[in-house]
Order: sequence, then C-alpha cells, then structure tokens
Amino acid sequence: MEASCIIFDFDKTLTTEEVGMFEINTDIGNKIFGGEERARMLTTLLTYLNDNGIYTFIASRNSRHVITKALELSGWNEHFTGIFGYENACSIEHGASQTGLPLKSGLIREKVLEAYNISPSNALFIDDDPHNIKDVMRLACDTIWVEGFGLGEEDEQRIRDWVDARTIS
Ligand SMILES: [Mg+2]
Repeated sequence: MEASCIIFDFDKTLTTEEVGMFEINTDIGNKIFGGEERARMLTTLLTYLNDNGIYTFIASRNSRHVITKALELSGWNEHFTGIFGYENACSIEHGASQTGLPLKSGLIREKVLEAYNISPSNALFIDDDPHNIKDVMRLACDTIWVEGFGLGEEDEQRIRDWVDARTIS
C-alpha cells in the first residue's frame, strides 16, 4: 500500500470552537472538543487511522504551542505524525493569502507531501474554511469541507470511507 495521509485543520475542525491561550488550562477537559461524546468519537477515529497506517497531520494557523498543549490535555499527541502551526507556516516561502496569512497549500506541499513522499491523490485535507479548501484543492488533494462547528458524524463516515477505499483490496 502506498503511503496515505489525512491533514486536519485544528480550530472548528477538530475542535468545535476557536481556541486561544485562555482556553488552554487544566480544567478544559473535553470542552473545546465538544464534550465527552464527541471526544470519544474523535479518539476512536484517530485510533482507526493509526491502526490502518494512515499518517495524520494537523495544519493550522493557530499557534503550534496552543495546539500541542490542547492535545496533551486530552491525551491525543501520540495520535499525530506531525503538527504544524503558525510558527511553521511562517518559516517557509510559499506566498500568502489575500489576508496576508500564509497559505496552507505551501505548508502541506513542503512539510507533508514532499517530506513524507505522499502523492496528492493519497492525501485528504479537512477544514472548515472554504478558502483553505479552495487553496489546497490546487495541490489535487482530496478534501472535505466541514460545515458547522467541528467535524461531525457525517464527516467521520466520509473519512472512514476514504480510508476503506485505500486499505481494502
Ligand atoms: Mg478552522
């Protein structure tokens, strides 16, 4: 099997809200992940991806520090192959969006596809921001646009179907 990967946005894709420094403390529990039930769904999904040998990444414009801290509190760090935040996006040359923020496509091409030798046809990108979806589609990756507040059960099923199409022969 060729290497496959899933790249998640963080805020309002893995989480159900925008996460800042103030949300990150020892009392958050699973609040930013939409409560216990949704957190369990995500844990099961991530374990499923890990068990099937799918590389898992986070590509976010949030601070990498905030993301790793949040994942640490929910015990999820070990589920991810790589976590890229604002610090990483700013350190590479790949142009910027109209708002001046670094584009995710550049980050993903360099840090994920090239670094792990993954073909775009074996990469799935998941984000709640349609601008990011449009940007990353230029790389010819598969995409899922999360509508609403964080990926839900329908999105989870689409992710599983995408994985099954690659692992079942
Ligand atoms: Mg987002």
